Amino acid sequence: MTSEMMTFCTYPEGPPAGADWTDGADLVVNATASPSVRALLDLRRSNSAAVPILTVGVDGRAERVFARLLPAPAGAGVADLEREVKLALADRPDAAHFADAFFPAADGAESSPFYPEPGCSESTFVGSAADLGGLAAIALNWATARLAGPPNDAPVALLAAPPHVTVGSGLLPHVEVSASPRVSLSDPRSGYLVKLTPEAVEDIERAVDDSHSRLGPGVETGGPVYGAWDALRRTVWVDRVGSPPPDSVEAQDRFVCGFEGLADETDRLDASTRGATGFVGTWHTHPLDPPDPSGRDLASLADVFSRPERLPRVFTMLIAGASSEGPVLKAHVFHRAEFVATADS
Ligand SMILES: [Zn+2]
Repeated sequence: MTSEMMTFCTYPEGPPAGADWTDGADLVVNATASPSVRALLDLRRSNSAAVPILTVGVDGRAERVFARLLPAPAGAGVADLEREVKLALADRPDAAHFADAFFPAADGAESSPFYPEPGCSESTFVGSAADLGGLAAIALNWATARLAGPPNDAPVALLAAPPHVTVGSGLLPHVEVSASPRVSLSDPRSGYLVKLTPEAVEDIERAVDDSHSRLGPGVETGGPVYGAWDALRRTVWVDRVGSPPPDSVEAQDRFVCGFEGLADETDRLDASTRGATGFVGTWHTHPLDPPDPSGRDLASLADVFSRPERLPRVFTMLIAGASSEGPVLKAHVFHRAEFVATADS
C-alpha cells in the first residue's frame, strides 16, 4: 500500500486521467499524516478509479483516532470533511475532548498538542504498538462496516476513544460527522470553487428580498462573508454571511461594506471555531445589473487590499445580480497580488 501511495505522489501532476494507481485495491488507506498527501488525494482523486479512501490519524497521546472516509471518487474531499468536523465539534460540548485532541486551540487547550504528530518515530511520541494497533483496528473495522452497509456516498468521519481511555464526564467516547451538502459556485477567472452552506445562500436571498422593501428597488445592500480558503485546492468555503455593518453605504449605484464591528465578529468566530472560520470577503447586490464586479467594485477592492488591517490575501466577492432568469448569485475570487501588481505598474 505504501509503495502504491508513493507512486501516486511521484506523479508531478497526479496520476493521468483513468490511471489505476490503486493496483486493484478495495480500499486505500492514507496513514501518512501528511497535509501534502491529503491535498494531492483531493486534487487528483476524481482522476482515479472508484476506490474509497480512508485517511487515519491518531492524537498526540495515541488515545483517540480520527478516521475520514471518502466512499466515492468525486464530491467533497478530505479537506471539506475536516472543516465540517471542526465546525461540528465547535457546537458539540459532548465531543470537546476530540476538538482538544485534533484541533487544539492556539492558546493550547491540550498540554502538549501536536497533530499531525511530527512523526511516530519521534522520541516525544508516547503511543505503543498496542495503542496504535487498537486505534487502527477501530478505524479499519468502522470503515469496512460502513462500506459493506447501505450504499452512501457522503464523506463521513469517526472520532473515537477506546474503552480504556477515560474521556470525562458528559463526554462521548465516539462521534460521527458527515459532510453536509454545499452549494458550489465556480469562478472561471481565478479557477476557484466557492462552496457555500445552504444557510449562507438563504441569508443572501432573504436579504435581497428585505432590501427591496427596506430600501426600495435598485438600492444595493451587502455585508461580510465568513469562511476560509485554500489556495492549493483553489477552494473557498463560505460558512456564513453577515448583515451590513453600521458604517456601510447602501446606495442606488453602490454598496460599500463598513468595517465597524467586523474585527470583533471575526475574532469571535475565530475563537469559537478554533480558527476554522474568519473574514474572507464581502457579498453585495446588483438589483439592476448582472452579478459581475463593476469598475467601482474593483476600485473598492484595490482600496481594501491597500489597507493595513488584517485582511485576507484571497478575497471573495459574492454578487447577487439581475439576469433574464431572475436574481443569480456569482462568486468572484481575487488575490491580493493581482492588485499589488496593478498598483505598482
Ligand atoms: Zn457591485
